[in-house]
Formats: sequence, C-alpha cells, structure tokens
Amino acid sequence: MDETADIAVVGGGMVGLASAIALRDRGLDVVLCDPGEARARTSYGNAGVVSRGSILPMASPALWGKLPAYLRNADSALRLRYTHLPRILPYALHFMAAARESRWRAAAAALLPLTGAAYGAHERLAARAGTTDRLGRTGWLKVYRTEDAFAAAALERDILAGHGIAFEILDGGALREAEPALVRPFARAMLLTETGSVREPGRLVEACEALFAGLGGRRVRGAVSALAPEGGGWRVGLGDRAVRARQVVLAAGAASGGLAHGLGYRFAVAAERGYHRHYALHPDSPPLTRPVLDTGAGSILSPMGEGRVRVLSGVELNARGAAPDHTQIEAASREAAGTLRLGGPLDNEPWLGSRPATPDGMPVIGRAPRHDGLIFAFGHGHIGLSTGPITGEIVADLATGRDPAIPIAPFAPERLLRWPRLL
Ligand SMILES: Cc1cc2nc3c(=O)[nH]c(=O)nc-3n(C[C@H](O)[C@H](O)[C@H](O)COP(=O)(O)OP(=O)(O)OC[C@H]3O[C@@H](n4cnc5c(N)ncnc54)[C@H](O)[C@@H]3O)c2cc1C
Repeated sequence: MDETADIAVVGGGMVGLASAIALRDRGLDVVLCDPGEARARTSYGNAGVVSRGSILPMASPALWGKLPAYLRNADSALRLRYTHLPRILPYALHFMAAARESRWRAAAAALLPLTGAAYGAHERLAARAGTTDRLGRTGWLKVYRTEDAFAAAALERDILAGHGIAFEILDGGALREAEPALVRPFARAMLLTETGSVREPGRLVEACEALFAGLGGRRVRGAVSALAPEGGGWRVGLGDRAVRARQVVLAAGAASGGLAHGLGYRFAVAAERGYHRHYALHPDSPPLTRPVLDTGAGSILSPMGEGRVRVLSGVELNARGAAPDHTQIEAASREAAGTLRLGGPLDNEPWLGSRPATPDGMPVIGRAPRHDGLIFAFGHGHIGLSTGPITGEIVADLATGRDPAIPIAPFAPERLLRWPRLL
C-alpha cells in the first residue's frame, strides 16, 4: 500500500533521523524511508567525536607535500583504488582546487557556526532520546609522534586559535599525565578541550529511531529506488511501493549522489570509506578517557565504554559497494597495539562504512536548484555525527519556510554541480 505524507525523509542515519524528528516537532506528517540496517549507517560506526574545532577539511594546503605518498598508497591516512578514479574525477578535481590556504580558511569560517552549534544540538537530542549518559565533554586529542609533525600542523593551530577554538599543547610528559592509557611516547599533543564525544553512536541512532516513532513518525523499510516529481509533489519509489509527499529530504548519506543523479544532478561527491574494529583494553591499563587521533598512523582510537576501544581507519577512495580491503584497518590495529595495551579483537570482521564526502569538506544543505519541494541534506563527510542534529534543525527550517539560524549559503548544492576553478 502506498503511503502519503507532508514530507518524506530518505535515509535514516544521523542526518535523516534528526531531520525527521525536527520536522515532527514542527507538526509535519513525516515518513522516513530507510532499509533499517543498523550497520549500513555510517552513523553507526564512527569515532563519536562532536567537536567545535572540526572545521578543517581534508583538502588542505598540506595535500601537495603528501601527494607523492598518497599516490603510492604509502600513507595509511589515504588509500586510493586507481580503477575507481575515473568515476570520481569531478570530486578529485574539486578536491585539488579546495586544497589552498585561502579556501581552507574560508571553509573553516563557513563551518564554524555549524560545528559551534553541534554540541548544544546533541545535548538537546540526547536529553529527549534518553542517551545523555553516552554524551560527555571529554575533549579530544591529536597526538604527534615527532616535533616535525607537530611543527607541520602550525597553520591548523593558527586557524583554530583565530576562531577562538580552545586547545592546550601538551609535551610528552604532560600527555602521559593527561591520558595515561597511551604507552607510546609522543612528542606533542593538542588537547581540544571544548570537544565532546558520544560513546557508541549506534545506540544514539537507535534511540533517535525510538524517539521519532514516539513522536508519531512513520517509517517505511526499504531502499528508495527513484525520486520523481508528481502532481505538484513527489513520488518516492521503493520498488513496487511508493510514498507520496509534498516535500522530500534527501539524506541518504553516501547514497545521496546516486539518487540525485536520477533527477539530473551530477554532484562532485565520493564515498570516503572507513573501517573500525573493537579491542579490549588490557585489564591493567588505565581507561582511555577520550578519542585520540594518532596523526602518525592516520587513525583514531575511541573509547566505547566497558574497556572497549574502537580503532578507526583513514580514508579509502573506492566504490561504495566494492569488497572490503582490510589493509588500512590492519595497519591501524598494529599501530594501536603499540599505542595502547590491547587484548585481542572483539569482532570477527572489521566494520566498513562510507563517509558521504564532498571535496571541500562542507555538507550540501539547501533547496534543490531545479526542483520545488526537494531539500538536500548530505555530504557531511568526517563531521556528520557531530553536525547531524543541527542539520536536522536547519532542514526543518527550510521545509517550513523559515530562515535557518545558521548561514547555509556556503553549503549550497550549486557549488558541486559545476566544474571547479583550478586556477
Ligand atoms: C571511520 C569513520 C569515523 C568517523 N568519525 C566521525 C566522528 O568522530 N565524528 C563525526 O561527526 N563524524 C564521523 N564520521 C562521519 C560520520 O559517521 C558521517 O558523516 C555520518 O554518519 C553521516 O550521516 P548520514 O546520516 O548522512 O549517513 P548514514 O549514517 O550513512 O545514513 C544514511 C542512511 O541512508 C540509508 N540509505 C542508503 N541508500 C538508501 C536508499 N536508496 N533509500 C533509503 N535509504 C537509503 C542508509 O541505509 C543509511 O541508513 C566518521 C566516519 C567514518 C567512516
């Protein structure tokens, strides 16, 4: 049986669920369309960092120095599958165009209002979803193995300080005191003190599903196959079923580009794949109290509670549906074993998810340029767990004709629908 609604939300990850909840709060009749597979959501498997300071995109001026190693697949932060490159050429060109200091600084300034509102939006959502005990102002650490690596991040510190992002610089001794679980000697660390984190983000997503249902939101389980304008509204096709709605929110994470393509929008986006695996901390180890980005290993170590650590890999540029390649997570796990006192893996297989990535590190949030009643909310890349809840509030503003409190012009879809200016 087909369903009708005021608005259909496509995708039930952090962005789609937060949007669906915020839309219900505005009194709209909402249907959320999602296959309902918890582990298929990138929102399930991330590091849980919610940071005001996450304003510096991957496309940085440092790219050019690292490019030779990246191209040889010799840096574990990035792994490129060459056969996939032709398919993401627009993304790669935009990425290179964005890797300039002026663009980096502009992206940081544009992202700050979004990341600055992220923790507050998480607190509001967690209070309603009953997950406040999973959220904390833990801070997060970026650790550097050498003084040279620390010195190379000077521009990052300059930009963060310029935006009033609070951080402390720790030497090796101060780091051991701050985070005694780290046994590897590091030269320096940056402790971002305003940062929060969510333990087991997948539980937050589950709680949001329950909250949405409790608010009277409806769900249709299944993958949306096509979006089509119909009679002044929209037909959201799921195989032989359909949802008819006046408006649609496209929030299907890394699948969004493909669905938009069906309407003629060719976004320069990519799936930045990433892996995680859980390990038990040795019972004699002090607990890990906050997420740690080991810049030398290109990986994150994030505490998930009850002595469990989630080891997360860097970026793999490959087709979303391609078979897993465990090279990076195996390297990250080996490095993690030298950084923390770890027992054996707790999962049989590493988890694999796809960051819905844009080349300039900013999400796509806004009305579709050529279709009424279609709102884009995807492309949150490395910060979608952080900024999902606040994006939901923006989506609800857009759907109800209000001006969002946060400037969204820099997130306009149009910028990724044209060829980049390389010079
Ligand atoms: C290793 C790793 C570490 C990360 N660490 C962090 C971090 O610390 N902090 C942070 O903020 N972010 C982090 N991220 C990024 C973050 O996880 C993502 O940006 C965020 O989860 C994106 O949310 P989303 O709702 O857009 O997508 P998703 O969570 O992927 O949700 C998309 C949903 O759409 C559904 N869908 C797909 N196709 C269809 C279809 N055809 N029809 C209907 N539904 C469909 C999917 O099944 C899924 O449920 C990390 C990501 C990775 C991979």
